[in-house]
Amino acid sequence: MLHAERQLQRRNTLRLRSRAAALSVIDSPADLERALVEARQSGLPVLPLGEGSNVVLAEELAAHVLLLRLRGCRWLDRRGLLRVAAGESWHPLVAWTVACGWRGLENLALIPGTVGAAPVQNIGAYGRELAPFVHAVHAVRIADGEPVTLSRAACRFGYRDSIFKHALRDRVVITAVDLQLSRDLPLEVSYPGLRDRLPAAIEAITPQAVFDAVVALRRGKLPDPLREPNAGSFFKNPVVSLEQAEALQAACPGLPVFEAGEGRRKLAAGWLIEQAGWKGIEREGIAVHPRHALVLVNRGGDSAARVLALAAAIAESVRARFGVELEIEPRCYGSGP
Ligand code: FAD
Ligand code: NAP
Repeated sequence: MLHAERQLQRRNTLRLRSRAAALSVIDSPADLERALVEARQSGLPVLPLGEGSNVVLAEELAAHVLLLRLRGCRWLDRRGLLRVAAGESWHPLVAWTVACGWRGLENLALIPGTVGAAPVQNIGAYGRELAPFVHAVHAVRIADGEPVTLSRAACRFGYRDSIFKHALRDRVVITAVDLQLSRDLPLEVSYPGLRDRLPAAIEAITPQAVFDAVVALRRGKLPDPLREPNAGSFFKNPVVSLEQAEALQAACPGLPVFEAGEGRRKLAAGWLIEQAGWKGIEREGIAVHPRHALVLVNRGGDSAARVLALAAAIAESVRARFGVELEIEPRCYGSGP
């Protein structure tokens, strides 16, 4: 139903001042159908919003925002196939599946946001990503309200990437995700910080222990958006050619470099930003977090323009110093990229 309250500042984790031209809360498939008809009639573009933890919202948004609140979760079989509605919160889902003895999602604990947004970014952390656990994604086409189902292959998942950022960008509203969990999947504990918090004997490590270790690590390292408004990592880790990575490593001892497919290497964006001298710097009420250079924090700046101005200055200095392009991770609406 169309909502009179169109302010979005409490609905994005960066707490940026923003107002939508129209806003509908989507509690049911009928709400979604109605809102899409209204958006078509008004000619406004549709902007599906979950918990707003991966967006940068401009002050005035010429969009019809759909707040996805679709709830529900049910087993489709006894072998770990689970259908979860788009508006469910991600972290409680992970906690519940792990407590029930299902494996797969334990490394993805404490990632903010909704289930419906998780395939958009192919959320990932500590060496795991969502993609291998997606059986199907259910959505509705914005243009005509028709339902569509995408297999995992059709989602074209990549590193923090999917078809929902490309061919289906702004074309569908995800309504549910089918997840295939497992009882016996080997655990992924190769990230050094994670391995150090777990028992030395690999047989002694349980999915619950991995979940607990990830939660503890994240609580110790990442700013809580409720106290320090942020959108997580503001830049993606750049993936460059092997040659460029080797040249950079020779010039900058200590640069963390990781495998990223044949002939490709991933660089730690946080390290580049810190070396360029940005850690802890604040401009116009937007700061580079003093403990985590990849996270921009709103300390009263409150505007997308200020966040993007700081991001542009950071990207420019990393380009000048290392010759590496940084790409913004959150989706920017109404301004910027
Ligand atoms: P929103 O921010 O509301 O939306 C993000 C994008 O998805 C928008 O383009 C929106 O239009 C689209 N979208 C949302 N819902 C739907 C839908 N139902 N249908 C179609 N499109 C939709 N990400 C990681 O990958 N790994 C991490 O470890 C991680 N850690 C984070 C830590 C912090 C402190 C924060 C603030 C963010 C972190 N993130 C991380 C980013 C973020 O949590 C994820 O991208 C999350 O999936 C976003 O969910 P959301 O519901 O908040 O999406
Ligand atoms: P970290 O452990 O300090 O590591 C720094 C970077 O090095 C990470 O970005 C990670 O890449 C990479 N890395 C470390 N060990 C690696 C390994 N063994 N193999 C491949 N890459 C490795 O990172 P952090 O910032 O504290 O975050 C921990 C995890 O949570 C990371 O996976 C990160 O992606 C995730 N996270 C994501 C967000 C977000 O908003 N997207 C926010 C907070 C945390 P990857 O990022 O590719 O894993």
